[in-house]
Amino acid sequence: MALVNEHFLKLPNNYFFSDIEKKINLFRVTHPKAEIIRLGTGDVTLPLPHACTEAMHRAVEEMSNPATFRGYGPEEGYHFLINEIIKNDYVPRGVHLEPGEIFISDGSKSDTGSIGDILRHDNSIGVTDPIYPVYIDSNVSCGRAGELQSDGKWSNVVYMPCLPENDFIPQIPSQRIDIVYLCYPNNPTGTVLSKSELKKWVNYALQNDTLIIFDAAYEAYIQNPEIPHSIYEIKGARKVAIECRSFSKTAGFTGVRCGYMVIPKEITAATLTGQRIPLNPMWKRHQEVKFNGTSYITQRGAEAVYTPEGKEEVKANIQYYMENVQILKKAFHELGLKVAGGDDAPYLWVQTPKGMSSWKFFDKLLYEAYIVGTPGVGFGPSGEGYMRFTGFGKREHCKEAIQRLRRCL
Ligand code: PLP
Repeated sequence: MALVNEHFLKLPNNYFFSDIEKKINLFRVTHPKAEIIRLGTGDVTLPLPHACTEAMHRAVEEMSNPATFRGYGPEEGYHFLINEIIKNDYVPRGVHLEPGEIFISDGSKSDTGSIGDILRHDNSIGVTDPIYPVYIDSNVSCGRAGELQSDGKWSNVVYMPCLPENDFIPQIPSQRIDIVYLCYPNNPTGTVLSKSELKKWVNYALQNDTLIIFDAAYEAYIQNPEIPHSIYEIKGARKVAIECRSFSKTAGFTGVRCGYMVIPKEITAATLTGQRIPLNPMWKRHQEVKFNGTSYITQRGAEAVYTPEGKEEVKANIQYYMENVQILKKAFHELGLKVAGGDDAPYLWVQTPKGMSSWKFFDKLLYEAYIVGTPGVGFGPSGEGYMRFTGFGKREHCKEAIQRLRRCL
């Protein structure tokens, strides 16, 4: 008899985003003519940069020619892409990485969700609250998160609330934690950490022997030149932090799938007997066991992000989304709502009016304005009373949504 991993059964039955879809589908049945505007989506809407699609076309042609066909590639990714990442994403920021420290993947969901495979099930974990749900769910499914309590928190997780009282900047915990997840620029609050704030985390990790999983999926959206794009801009971070990046929101690769994870050679974790084991070769072995590489065509597409044309197109797309988010932010302010984020990230974190619950505000917007946001409570207990909006929609939809919001609120 095969036994199931019972920790998996602890995951709430419905994925939060499926609940939203169900509500929308129900609404569509009763309001077939209503034109819904989705302002909550975390998916991009602009097509891939031409530089990327042209590179992928060329790669497809190579695959059809016996002389240039490629089969399995290296699990950790092709060096042509790794070298461009080092040269463009890190060297200009004063960060020097070796090619062997970068692992190309099919995206940051896989990386942040799977890194726990090489870490013991009884490590304590810490997350900012609200947070990208994958960090929690991946720990629940291996038993590391403990049990769900009546307050919506998991028993073995330390939650660091991000609220207006602390400007949505998490406080350094008073106890030690084995693994801390940080996501900056943040999904869902749209806030960032200054260099001095990030330094506090690196120092905390150095002092407490904590491993930081730093998710920088939205670093390309940073506008303020003072804000760090990589945790390795902070001295000492190479000893304590793993960094994840994605081409999804940078270059529209949500449907193509490519990202990467940086594991510096210095990073170690301990065995129960206290022996220090480097995580870099462990992750390489993990990928050899469970992954057969991101497709050659995809990696050629990602490489093109770093060409002059690719860079121009990516910049223009990000500017478009950031203008959307700024237009929405101004409108929410004018409507008297409290808004965080949106200056260095494509997300707005909007406090619901009159203390309404997240889901109540969701229903109000859906039924009265035909607008869909993402209820903040889906990102953690501190998300109750908030709604996440994004700049990933189309400009005309943002403008139309503002008219509707003015009528509805
Ligand atoms: N990390 C964060 C914070 C995200 O918001 C997302 C997607 O929304 C991801 C990772 C997943 O990225 P990818 O498409 O690379 O799997």
